[in-house]
Amino acid sequence: MPELPEVESVRRGLEPYVLGARLDDVQVLRDRAVRRQAGGAAQFEGWARGRTVVGTDRRGKFLWLVLDDGSAVTVHLGMSGQLRIEHPGTAPGRHTRAVFELGNGHAVHFNDQRTFGWVWATEMVDSAGKRVPVPARDIAPDLLEPGLDVVALAHRMRRSRSAVKRVLLNQNVVSGIGNIYADEMLWAARVDGKTPADEVSVRRLAKLLREGQRVLLAALDAGGTSFDSLYVHVNGESGYFDRSLNAYGRAGQPCARCGTPIVREQFMNRSSYLCPRCQR
Ligand SMILES: [Zn+2]
Repeated sequence: MPELPEVESVRRGLEPYVLGARLDDVQVLRDRAVRRQAGGAAQFEGWARGRTVVGTDRRGKFLWLVLDDGSAVTVHLGMSGQLRIEHPGTAPGRHTRAVFELGNGHAVHFNDQRTFGWVWATEMVDSAGKRVPVPARDIAPDLLEPGLDVVALAHRMRRSRSAVKRVLLNQNVVSGIGNIYADEMLWAARVDGKTPADEVSVRRLAKLLREGQRVLLAALDAGGTSFDSLYVHVNGESGYFDRSLNAYGRAGQPCARCGTPIVREQFMNRSSYLCPRCQR
């Protein structure tokens, strides 16, 4: 599943192709991809068609194109979504759900095998210090957002009695942290994710958040080199940053810090990976 670094990679890869480009034609090939749009495919196509893209932006795993009328087209990649730059007129693939033909000679295909992703054209609103499209209105700022106050966020986390990992995964507290990066930042900060947040010091929670920023940036650096100029992609299953993981998916392998085998536990109906010695 694409997490924040992959989505940011896609945004960075996409931006040079779409910035300043007019959406000459917009076609939805599968209604499920616009299931959030009240007026369906016709409304989505009519909204975006003829508009010029004046920016790209992101919060958490929500990515959007800013249009010249101040509205936006949001793309959520879901479990398996990809955005591909194609030559205009390229036949849609089997999993192509929407096609944007650009006035600059490129086309953007939204491909999504499992169709958990979606596109949605909406107005934009102010939310937590930023203009965001309606779909991202209730999503908290993410760890890579400029100006994020890590200490204030640590104080906010500490008001919760929930397990630290559960708080990290709560998109209303901080957005864009999925299971993989939650485990990685907990390992880096030596925190057991099962600990209630109100039993962890603000200082330690702030360290946890800073480690999260570092882990996300490292993954972004690793992923940012993995697509060529005509191919913007997110591969749902194979992570190109796998090699840099210290905890996630490493059950039975020695902890890079102390050599104790990493253990896998069930948490929130998913697997958690941690070092039972370092993370107490
Ligand atoms: Zn360890």
